[in-house]
Amino acid sequence: MTRRVEIDPKAGFCGGVIRAIGKAEAFLESSSKLFSLGAIVHNEAELDRLAAKGLSSVKSVSEVPEGEPILIRAHGEPPATYAEAASREIIDCTCPVVLQLQKRIREAHTRLREGGRHGTLVIFGKIGHAEVLGLLGQVDGDAIVVEDKGMLEEALRGIDLNEKVEVFSQTTKSPADYKELCDAIAEAMEKVRGVPPGSDLVINDTICSQVASRYSSLKEFALSHDAIVFVSGASSSNGKVLFELCRKVNPRTFRIGSSAEIDPSWFRPEDSIGVSGATSTPKWLLEEVAENLKGI
Ligand code: SF4
Repeated sequence: MTRRVEIDPKAGFCGGVIRAIGKAEAFLESSSKLFSLGAIVHNEAELDRLAAKGLSSVKSVSEVPEGEPILIRAHGEPPATYAEAASREIIDCTCPVVLQLQKRIREAHTRLREGGRHGTLVIFGKIGHAEVLGLLGQVDGDAIVVEDKGMLEEALRGIDLNEKVEVFSQTTKSPADYKELCDAIAEAMEKVRGVPPGSDLVINDTICSQVASRYSSLKEFALSHDAIVFVSGASSSNGKVLFELCRKVNPRTFRIGSSAEIDPSWFRPEDSIGVSGATSTPKWLLEEVAENLKGI
């Protein structure tokens, strides 16, 4: 009897990653090499596939040989990077959703500084993450980055809660965690002012809709199988969060980076297995893992 194995219909690359990889592959049809500023996707297997076509990652613009174009990945970059790469051809793969977020942050910053006001811009995101660095660069670093609710208490000490506060989220954060953080800011403002902050607290809904819908559908998917194999690169922060979410609703969730890491002892013969992954996990890898699972 063949084991029931189902691939999460919502899993696979997000639109921003599909677009970036498509642009890189189109370029490599007529060239043997291309340099991407940072890994184009947080998935080692997909990076190996693209490396065979000529794509390599560099850590800085200066590492790209003179005259060679540079690819900017879906996460986006701060204005300083564009200035540094001004003499080169730039293949800009910044996701349109991130571009829109960068624009909104610039506009919010202008609003907060109007008439010499001292309002605060808060970004809910991972410190040092490329997207967050790109967002900070839009406002010359004039924002506070809060990684989680645990960091908020200290961050609040640096915020004038009697002034206006605008909050934005990195596109891949958890909607539930974002709500929790925003509620805590509202509560702190009310405590200081004695009244709710009203329009002095602006919460911007900037989690990517593709990510937000993954959070709700993944819970359902994880519950619909006896065990879940979650495929994700070790460096994907979105992968870590989605894996934890899956494991919370289905404790028999196992994370792997490739088929070679499957351990048959995880499964009982009668188990149905669901295969899911991060927004940076390619469909071909999910299919390969599913095929392997059917055979054990
Ligand atoms: S997660 Fe959303 S915002 Fe981020 S790259 Fe993908 S599509 Fe764009």
